[in-house]
Amino acid sequence: MRRSKAFIPTTKEVPSDAVLASHIFLSRAGFISQVASGLYSYMPLAKKVIRKIENIIHDEMAQVGAQEVELSFVAPSDLWIESGRIDKFGKELLRFYDRKEKLFVLGPTHEEMMVDLVRNRVVSYKNLPLNLYQIKTKFRDEVRPRYGLMRGREFIMKDGYSFHTSTEDLDREFDALEVAYKKIITRLGLDFRVVEADSGAIGGSGSKEIMVIADSGEDNIAVCDTCEYGANIEVFLNMDELDEDFDANSITDIKTIKGDDNCPHCAGKLSLTKGIEVGHIFKLGTTYSDALKAKYLDENGQSQSFIMGTYGMGVSRLVAAVIEQHHDENGCIWTKETAPYMVNIMISNIKDEAQNTLGEELYLKLLGENIEVMIDDRKERFGFKMKDAELIGFPYTVIIGKELANGTVEIYDRKTTLKTTVSTGEIYKKIMELM
Ligand code: ATP
Ligand code: MG
Repeated sequence: MRRSKAFIPTTKEVPSDAVLASHIFLSRAGFISQVASGLYSYMPLAKKVIRKIENIIHDEMAQVGAQEVELSFVAPSDLWIESGRIDKFGKELLRFYDRKEKLFVLGPTHEEMMVDLVRNRVVSYKNLPLNLYQIKTKFRDEVRPRYGLMRGREFIMKDGYSFHTSTEDLDREFDALEVAYKKIITRLGLDFRVVEADSGAIGGSGSKEIMVIADSGEDNIAVCDTCEYGANIEVFLNMDELDEDFDANSITDIKTIKGDDNCPHCAGKLSLTKGIEVGHIFKLGTTYSDALKAKYLDENGQSQSFIMGTYGMGVSRLVAAVIEQHHDENGCIWTKETAPYMVNIMISNIKDEAQNTLGEELYLKLLGENIEVMIDDRKERFGFKMKDAELIGFPYTVIIGKELANGTVEIYDRKTTLKTTVSTGEIYKKIMELM
């Protein structure tokens, strides 16, 4: 892509309500634009990052045999009445009437829709287990939409639902999905913990959250310093017993909560840290299949409710989570798997014939190799263009400048902020090595 033609409206302006680095930099670097509270438009750079995250998810879902579907965003309220969630979900569920005065909701999560899709279509144990998922816009009229993509009202979620004949088989699938989720987050280059979570109002027999470690996270989690064990502190707390002005955020010591700081699984010690919930996997059991009368026939011809699991992952929240973990005071630092463009070719002086020629040549060569490459061919000052590149966060910038006269250019590494001098003859090879 040519920077002179790219739709990347970078700005110095910080959104008035922005406190998180991800919110500030994604806005300033021209990834997202706020439309109204909790509503964002994604510009080309954000679309590229989102697509990359989605592709990794599709990849790992294929590995566990989950199949992609796409459910309607608008759901008839009948299904929500059938499940009993129409009232339980409260005001987060946006409702509206169509021209025939029929009540609809905007899907905040799709258990009802998925059960409805499967019931009467999957009728035999022979066709189970089944795992269906989608990546789709969700709408929740959050009380406090904030932090940019972190907590939107409209957001993108990967939501999956599995159907089983036994709790053992659900357990197997749950474990497989935990492994798949870990692979996804690892591939995105994020530091995370899987923690025991509160199964909450929906019931079910177990749930885990995938927490990206970040000081800005809204969740308090206890993690073991020796083994993999971690838990949301909600698991340790009996919220009902606590008085009203209790603030979980102010707790700095796990001993205050639990009485001791011993890990329940090993000899290690627990400590508190903060996390961004990017995924939630859940053993649902038969709550929804019972309510919606979704049944299959078992080996003995007996009618049984599907035993279900549900697996959510916040795609748009992940975009923000990447930046929460990977930024500095100058802007975004994209990881290899998430970068909208891997290489930025910086022509320092656009009026310099030799700089232009080398830049263009390298640009076409990399394009030909399907490398995601940008060429900064704008007639702007070098300092301005570098600041822009820092803000956007290209992993590598090839600086073609004055040293070209001596046959060298520089490769700037956004993460380490180090520059390496490379001869013009070596530049292509060197970049290919870095990809
Ligand atoms: P939270 O406690 O952060 O509100 P949740 O428990 O309501 O999350 P789930 O219902 O488990 O979330 O949804 C699955 C995933 O969708 C979450 O793990 C999160 O990554 C993402 N998600 C949920 N709400 C939002 C939101 N308002 N904006 C962006 N992502 C969200
Ligand atoms: Mg929520």
